[in-house]
Amino acid sequence: MAQTPDDARFATLAVHAGQSPEETTGAIMPPIFQTSTYVQPAIAEPLGGIYDYARVANPTREALERNFAGIESGTHGVAFASGLAAIECVLKLLSAGDHVVTEENTYGGTTRMFMRVLERLGIRFTFVDSRDPQTVAAAMTPETKLVHLETPTNPMMRIADIRAIADIAHAGGSRLMVDNTFASPYNQRPLELGADIVVHSTTKYLNGHSDIIGGILAVRDDALAEEILFVRKSTGAVPGPMDAWLCLRGMKTLHLRMAAHNANGMAIAEWLEAHSGVDRVHYPGLPSHEQHELAARQMSGFTGMVSVDVGSLERARALVEHTRIFQLAESLGGVESLISVPALMTHASVPAERRQRMGVTDGLVRLSCGIEHVDDLIGDLDQALG
Ligand SMILES: *Cc1c(COP(=O)(O)O)cnc(C)c1O
Repeated sequence: MAQTPDDARFATLAVHAGQSPEETTGAIMPPIFQTSTYVQPAIAEPLGGIYDYARVANPTREALERNFAGIESGTHGVAFASGLAAIECVLKLLSAGDHVVTEENTYGGTTRMFMRVLERLGIRFTFVDSRDPQTVAAAMTPETKLVHLETPTNPMMRIADIRAIADIAHAGGSRLMVDNTFASPYNQRPLELGADIVVHSTTKYLNGHSDIIGGILAVRDDALAEEILFVRKSTGAVPGPMDAWLCLRGMKTLHLRMAAHNANGMAIAEWLEAHSGVDRVHYPGLPSHEQHELAARQMSGFTGMVSVDVGSLERARALVEHTRIFQLAESLGGVESLISVPALMTHASVPAERRQRMGVTDGLVRLSCGIEHVDDLIGDLDQALG
């Protein structure tokens, strides 16, 4: 695996990147600066040159952003009130008439924003199967300003070659944004592979405890960071300080949690593949995954996300209604295991024809394997499948 993270370094970054004791007391954790404004010593002379209003600057949020930039190999982190707000902010760097190329198996909420909100404002989108980089190249036009990828995709676990597509985007005068929510920076760091922007729903693995909605992005370019900060300041989708603090606390154990998610995901994918009641398992860590080699090249672990086709809606329903540890819910990436039926839940708004083409059948079940003991998780699936 080419991109094997140096675990010790990642672990140290996760705990310490961008953190320093608070100045007045030495508090080792950043205080929750629960304030909307700051007193200025003189007219238009805010302390630190930036603390004039909390939409613009908040020290708790900044501690989160510095930590995230550290673990995603970026130079700037920018936090948002949700994952969708982070993605929307990047789209607002564009103007009416600009064109975007995007993976067709993109998260349902992102697809809805693109098709039903931003198209109306004059931004145009082409949806492609980014497993083949040539489909991205073929969709580029002189107006293309952004290529948007998710890899692995939800729930089909398609893989896009980040490095190859970064080259294609740049050759066409476009930027590449990668939604790294599914992989997490522990397993994959798109900025190191040539992406210009990496974005996350922190709601998932980064926060990891299913108790906030949040988003964040990182870049390596000062001018691009300035453009993004300007749009965030001008549009306002910032996270509250309490949520920023919770997310930072979650991220300090990302390496421990991801190691457990990766191990449980792999063990469960292997167990399911050998089970007679299962038609097909989609997991990039399995040699049977059609893009396993590419996944192994650009990822160092394969997460706790496993999709399994049990053949029919009846069997899918029987499975998700009989698990006791895996809870029936949307979302993913928390310490507790979740199970869902994408065609009827997260992907119900995707046109049926596109769902079928992508393989999101009514019998497809998505597992978010948590960090419980693997024997208990397998035992739970075993009794529910039986
Ligand atoms: C959940 C999710 C989002 C949206 O994030 P929110 O925090 O729910 O707004 C975007 N991309 C992916 C891959 C997701 O899983």
